Amino acid sequence: MSFRSKLALFFFLVVVVPMGSVAFVLFRLVDESSTGKADARLASRQEVAVNLTRELRVRGGVIAARVARDPQVAAALADGDRAALGARLEALRRTSGATRIAIVRRGGPLADTGDPDAVFPAFRELTLPDGRVAGLLEVAVADAAPFAERVARVTGLETAVSIGGRVAGATITGLRDVALPERRGAVSAGAVDYRAASYDAPAFTQGISRVTVLEPAALSAGSRQQSRALIIVLLLGFFVIALTLTWAVARSLHRSMQRFLLAARRIGAGDYGARVPTVGNDDFAALGEEFNKMSARLEAREQDLRRERERLRLAMRRLGQAFASNLDRDGLLDVVVSATGEGLGADAGRACIPGDDGALVPVAGAGDTEAAAAALGAAEQEALARGAEAEIVRGSRAALALPLRAQDGAVIAVVAIARAGTSFTEADREIFRYLAGQAAQSIENVDLHHRIERQAVTDALTGLANRRHFEERLAAEVERARRFPDQPLALVLLDIDDFKQVNDRLGHVAGDDVLRAVARAMEQGRRDVDLAARFGGEELALILPGAGLDGALRAAERVRTAIAALDLPLAGPDGGPLHVTVSLGVAAFGLGAHDAEGLLEAADAALYRAKRAGKNRTEGPAAATGLRSE
Ligand code: GH3
Ligand code: MG
Ligand code: MG
Repeated sequence: MSFRSKLALFFFLVVVVPMGSVAFVLFRLVDESSTGKADARLASRQEVAVNLTRELRVRGGVIAARVARDPQVAAALADGDRAALGARLEALRRTSGATRIAIVRRGGPLADTGDPDAVFPAFRELTLPDGRVAGLLEVAVADAAPFAERVARVTGLETAVSIGGRVAGATITGLRDVALPERRGAVSAGAVDYRAASYDAPAFTQGISRVTVLEPAALSAGSRQQSRALIIVLLLGFFVIALTLTWAVARSLHRSMQRFLLAARRIGAGDYGARVPTVGNDDFAALGEEFNKMSARLEAREQDLRRERERLRLAMRRLGQAFASNLDRDGLLDVVVSATGEGLGADAGRACIPGDDGALVPVAGAGDTEAAAAALGAAEQEALARGAEAEIVRGSRAALALPLRAQDGAVIAVVAIARAGTSFTEADREIFRYLAGQAAQSIENVDLHHRIERQAVTDALTGLANRRHFEERLAAEVERARRFPDQPLALVLLDIDDFKQVNDRLGHVAGDDVLRAVARAMEQGRRDVDLAARFGGEELALILPGAGLDGALRAAERVRTAIAALDLPLAGPDGGPLHVTVSLGVAAFGLGAHDAEGLLEAADAALYRAKRAGKNRTEGPAAATGLRSE
């Protein structure tokens, strides 16, 4: 059942039903009261009629006394002379003014004179001189019709007089066939309704006459109608007020509920900014306040979640970027600073590495590091001194720093973040430790990877590129020279002169030192694009991209003279520092050499020629002129 239907039912039960009952009872009361009033009025008028009747009978009684004393009447009775009796009574009636005189014996009239419609006789018992009852004398002084008119005049009501059930006199017509009520009742005469009240009085020859006063029913009906109209108006007024109030209350309730419904729907749809207006201090206002508190809490929670999600998204993106890029140590530190800063709502963060002098050198930063420099610096120093996590509060800022350690315990870096306002919670510190720990691990992995990568392409003894790397690079450069014929390419092979003797005289370890010193000299003399490699044993090679034969010959000479000038910290045969010389063979791409193998062969052939020509010299292709020192 809807709220509206419930309210309508409530209104019906609380207002309509009681109002119907009240109207019914009031109508009944009005009816009864107006009938009662009419009856009271009739009773008072009837009393007047009764008094008039009594007066008539008193007057009849006076005449009856005279008749009883009359000697002629007594004689006629004693003689049983009915004719004489009748004549005497008629004479007496005329002189006395009676309307009817009768003497009755044993139910039958001895004599009866006057108007048959005479009413309200006085009675007197007649006795003979010997004491026997001669009969009952009945004397009336009024007739029915004039009496009715007199009563009507005095009371102002219509009046009817009946004798033995026959209407003998009435002030209205139409009563002939109507039974008049014994005491009170309703009577219809013609088209008019009356309220009637009657009383009975003894009539002639032991009959009964009835006097009825009648009041038109319309008289009381009018006031009854007025009362009813008043009741209806009052009840209608009450009904309208009740209906208006109920309507107003229902409307207000409905509006409040609509507001709640609307707000609840908005919240249901995810709009947590929905609020209901709270006016006054009724239950709805209290409910509204609770509702608003609830939506405010939901809104705040949703914003928290949004922020969390945004942070998570940023952190994930950072980590994704870290996966995607081939990060080095600084790149990783940059990622860890950004990710922890975003994840923990920091406004600044940086990573530092210990410099040569032990001071911290910033290598990565995020946010406003300048504003937070004091807090960050203090936390970093504290963390470094403690060798563990440290939190510092400087002014309105809290800073958290953590040293990142390699597996051997060495500090790789110090990561620090700072934020204004709230200090860091244990949960924040845990996230920070986790991310920093992961970063330390990654940095170690990256370092290891780089080391292995370097080892894979580096010759362990000399630190130059190894043979495999040399061959790969030579193949690539040859390929490039083929594609771009205007880009020259040259190759130099170097062999230490009489190296066996060094080994033999000073031992292999010293030989290795010499080999390293020669390699260093060659490495230092090369351009950035050149590649110096250990070709094998004490033979080294130099790939010279972009260099033609002349350039290569000059470069080889520079290397040769640089090596020859080295004062090696070993004992020379003459007691002074050891000096070594080298022989070099140069080959250029395109000059009899069209691939890597051809280049190698050409350079090797040139080197061979340099050895044959007396060592400590540079030789180019066979056609070219050899160069030598001194
Ligand atoms: P040449 O002037 O003709 O080159 O005379 P050489 O004595 O240098 O003769 P060769 O090039 O044939 O000898 C190479 C020697 O270099 C042989 C070997 O003992 C020595 N050698 C090769 N590799 C190494 C190394 O890694 N360390 C040391 N100490 N000696 C090496
Ligand atoms: Mg050799
Ligand atoms: Mg040699």
